[in-house]
Amino acid sequence: RRTITRLPEWLKTPIPAGNDNYKSIKKDLRGLNLHTVCEEARCPNISECWGGDNKNAATATIMLMGDTCTRGCRFCSVKTNRAPAPLDPHEPEHTAEALARWGLGYVVLTSVDRDDLADGGARHFAETIRKIKAKKPSLLVEALTGDFRGDLDMVKIVAQSGLDVYAHNIETVEGLTPFVRDRRATFRQSLSVLEHVKKVQEGSITKTSIMLGLGEQEQEIADTLKELRNVDVDVVTFGQYMRPTKRHLKVEKYVTPEEFEMWRLRALDMGFLYVASGPLVRSSYKAGEAFIENVLR
Ligand code: SF4
Ligand code: SF4
Repeated sequence: RRTITRLPEWLKTPIPAGNDNYKSIKKDLRGLNLHTVCEEARCPNISECWGGDNKNAATATIMLMGDTCTRGCRFCSVKTNRAPAPLDPHEPEHTAEALARWGLGYVVLTSVDRDDLADGGARHFAETIRKIKAKKPSLLVEALTGDFRGDLDMVKIVAQSGLDVYAHNIETVEGLTPFVRDRRATFRQSLSVLEHVKKVQEGSITKTSIMLGLGEQEQEIADTLKELRNVDVDVVTFGQYMRPTKRHLKVEKYVTPEEFEMWRLRALDMGFLYVASGPLVRSSYKAGEAFIENVLR
């Protein structure tokens, strides 16, 4: 028998048409040879991230180090291979040049996990950030990295590269981590990454993201938030887990917008600097606007 997937109403909302800011950001991207996660993953937030009212807050996410990951998390649709193509040594320079010509206010640099590289790609990340800051110092930069297999020296290389926000996603609660993330990723290892950034870079802002709907219990989410605050994480985001294909973990629950709002308020109460929480929220959702309103004000 055919199973019908019923999406709740709140996930069916149409993508808003982009305003003038959105249109100009989109037009300027042509010819820049940048691959955005926003477009390639058909993110439903694109008109909000690229076209907020404040043009200086326009946010996009760029993927570095190729499209093939050495890991295979059970929620993620990125291709997996033990030996991805070698790094493009010109990527840091090219990315910085293209970003300097594009009208963003905030860029999120992310990547696949590169366990095949001795440094996990940390130097490549750091070089890209330094080059961006040299060419366009006003551009706010967030790096969303993997866990570098717990190698904290690599975390330090990225943390001290001149970025504005260091993000690493904890993804889910501790009890579900072995079923959700690649076996090389552990909850404690991710906490240690976030903790280390604060140790090696004074005044740094750290950020993490949790997917809801994988079967986690309320108490487990509350415990996770407590663990994150214990290592001084500043920013947390919550979004609904969406199953990319039938080969991926199934959705255990569609969390209601009211529950997302409840988690936003609870996290703020616990001392997080800012929180984004909603069914369609992704970790980079309107990150520029949130940073400008909460950190730079
Ligand atoms: Fe791009 Fe992230 Fe915004 Fe989606 S949420 S449009 S991926 S910046
Ligand atoms: Fe996807 Fe990241 Fe896991 Fe790789 S490490 S499979 S890119 S979530």
